[in-house]
Amino acid sequence: MKRLWEVDAEVAEAIYNEIEREAGRLELIASENFVSTAVLEAQGCVMTNKYAEGYPGRRYYGGCSYVDKVENLAIERAKELFGDVHVNVQPHSGTQANMAVYLAVLQPGDTILGMDLSHGGHLTHGARVNFSGRLFNVISYGVSKDTQTIDFSELKDLTEKYKPKMIIAGASAYPRIIDFEKFKEVADLVSAYLVADIAHIAGLIVSGLHPSPIPFCDFTTTTTHKTLRGPRGGVIMCKKEYAKLIDRMVFPGIQGGPLMHVIAAKAVCFREALTSEFKEYQLQVVKNARSLAKALIDLEFTLVSGGTDNHLILVDLRNKGITGLDAEIALDKAGIIVNKNTIPYDKRSPFVTSGIRLGTPALTTRGMKEKEMEKIAQMIGRVLENIDREEVIQEVSHEVKELCDRFPLYQELLER
Ligand SMILES: *Cc1c(COP(=O)(O)O)cnc(C)c1O
Repeated sequence: MKRLWEVDAEVAEAIYNEIEREAGRLELIASENFVSTAVLEAQGCVMTNKYAEGYPGRRYYGGCSYVDKVENLAIERAKELFGDVHVNVQPHSGTQANMAVYLAVLQPGDTILGMDLSHGGHLTHGARVNFSGRLFNVISYGVSKDTQTIDFSELKDLTEKYKPKMIIAGASAYPRIIDFEKFKEVADLVSAYLVADIAHIAGLIVSGLHPSPIPFCDFTTTTTHKTLRGPRGGVIMCKKEYAKLIDRMVFPGIQGGPLMHVIAAKAVCFREALTSEFKEYQLQVVKNARSLAKALIDLEFTLVSGGTDNHLILVDLRNKGITGLDAEIALDKAGIIVNKNTIPYDKRSPFVTSGIRLGTPALTTRGMKEKEMEKIAQMIGRVLENIDREEVIQEVSHEVKELCDRFPLYQELLER
């Protein structure tokens, strides 16, 4: 960042501090990851300069031969990863991907059925504060009280009663396998469109560690920056019959010029995701989540649904007498970064919550394995049992530093 230090030391310093922060803390936010320096280089490239409204081979601007090349590479690689579908790699984010899908086939006022935000769904699945909740008539399904897994009998009842035009399967805080085939059976009862939103679990799916929704869904959306470990962005996959509708809704429907530097980085991400190392990485993500879950259960933490099948864990803190907010703040002081999260049927507000969400993708990227997960569970336990004892939190923060030093991250970026 030599030039940046000369031109704008304030921004350079903030970036430098962020690199140090990412390297020096234990990142357990389930939606975050650390991209490779190859992805960073692609994302920081001159393709940010290029206007390329339209699609490869049919743009509204000249000079698009090289951006066409990277967009085609991204599309071809996404097909290798996900299967024989139509792919649009232009959505700026997961939210834009969902917006394009909904607006492509629905009219304002149509009924959609999505997972309740407080049960693990995403804002774009019909939250009132989101465009999805403002434009559509939203019905929500959730998890059952006893198993804390998706309640398919409720889903079926709601579907038959309200006849939604679209059902959205997918979540941001759901630790179990999602049975897309069952969703398809329910959607077919009323001929609803079925959308899978695999933002969190895309990396697991392309590695064969979670069943793929592609055979069952009309549309599949994802982000590229969570388990997929690419740049921030979104992608839409759909049945070929919807190709034109989707492409037209992304551009010119809801976006202008695509972020070609980000699309270049998406192509790099997909290339990395096609390697056997990536599959090993994803397998370790899942193994680490299991081992973290087991160690937390041994410390008498309650896990929503009793454990995990994927990369994330939802801890129900009610038996520990602390809120999600208290836990997030105390852990942050120790250098352990998590987010507070509502648990199903939570009585506390989303600003306080009764739970925390933990994920293993980022730490696994650093090379941590089961042994480190057990140690991290112990550290989490010590902080949360001693939330008011500064000296304990200090002690843990030193151990966090030591652990981070043993698994270096972005060291080459810290050389000034
Ligand atoms: C993260 C997420 C999104 C949205 O991603 P953004 O890129 O932040 O807009 C959409 N759906 C689900 C299920 C997610 O977890």
